[in-house]
Amino acid sequence: MENKTGFICDESYFWHQTGNGALMLTAGNWIQEDVHAENPESKRRIKNLLERSRFIKELEQIEPRYATRKEIETNHTTDYVERVTTLSDAGGGDAGEHAIVGPGSYEIALLSAGGVLTAVDLVMKKTVSNAYALTRPPGHHAEQDGGMGFCLFNNVAIAAKYARAKYGLKRIVILDWDVHHGNGTESAFSSDPEVLFISIHQENVFPKNRGSVSYVGEGEGVGYNVNIELPAGTGNEGYNYTFEHVVEPIIDQFQPELILISAGQDPSRFDPLGRMLVTAEGFYQMAARMKTLAEKHFNGRLIACHEGGYSTSYVPFCTLKILEAFRGKRSVVEDPFDLGYHEGPIYPNQIEAINKVKEIQKEYWNLA
Ligand SMILES: [Zn+2]
Repeated sequence: MENKTGFICDESYFWHQTGNGALMLTAGNWIQEDVHAENPESKRRIKNLLERSRFIKELEQIEPRYATRKEIETNHTTDYVERVTTLSDAGGGDAGEHAIVGPGSYEIALLSAGGVLTAVDLVMKKTVSNAYALTRPPGHHAEQDGGMGFCLFNNVAIAAKYARAKYGLKRIVILDWDVHHGNGTESAFSSDPEVLFISIHQENVFPKNRGSVSYVGEGEGVGYNVNIELPAGTGNEGYNYTFEHVVEPIIDQFQPELILISAGQDPSRFDPLGRMLVTAEGFYQMAARMKTLAEKHFNGRLIACHEGGYSTSYVPFCTLKILEAFRGKRSVVEDPFDLGYHEGPIYPNQIEAINKVKEIQKEYWNLA
């Protein structure tokens, strides 16, 4: 179905500086200067591809607002926010574990979180049916008292809390398909039955000792945390199988009033920080499935906020396909990297991993 899709982006998002490191490390000692994995190009090239293909004209381009400090502090401690501010004003530093702050990053991070808050208002007020916020810096690893994994403030968690406070929502889903576990988001809602957190990630990548399938939340939140660890090499078919057998039935039973996606395009087949085989079309399929679910329950309220994705060449195509699914209309662009390889057929170890999730989650949800 065609609908209005919001696209939230700001040039400032590309000005957050992560320095001259290599992959996820900073330069120095044995690390020669290189381009840091979390550099602006993968995101800037999304905007470029949207413009060159003119698909941007199919989207409602909307400017993000700044989140207020008070809004950030709904999810982060005052001490931590102060630390980011101080580092940012001093020209940069590390606000946690691989959480690089550059000059002025604090203000850009406020605009990044504010981008998702803008999306929440747009969707709740029906200005658009769904929205994509090209947020940078990303957020899902950020814990309440510290940054982590290139993330400063947890954009999606702040947005869920905002949607609940402002619009009185009682059932929000956060689906995190970034290849790494969404530890910060999980922590924010681990004992919260009103926010169902589902993370699909590659097993044992990042962060260490998080994302185990056996962790189902705590206190009142038991049963509202779904960790889906998949083995390296899982591709489109494995992800589709996961949606069909776990993600969709659980979301269906939860009946969400709003769906937020932590959209990291690092399960892509060319990502340097993950080992999955999802193609651009695979991202289209996941986005289309989420759109169908959102439409089924509450008029299609669906928001994606950008997380990781480090293949500067391929992330733009994956993200374009997500936007096509959201908009309900195809662009003129066909994935040029789709050279007719297999799309990651499903192997027994993948089915085994998904069955393991089902066994654990069957205690809380009806799963066939
Ligand atoms: Zn990631």
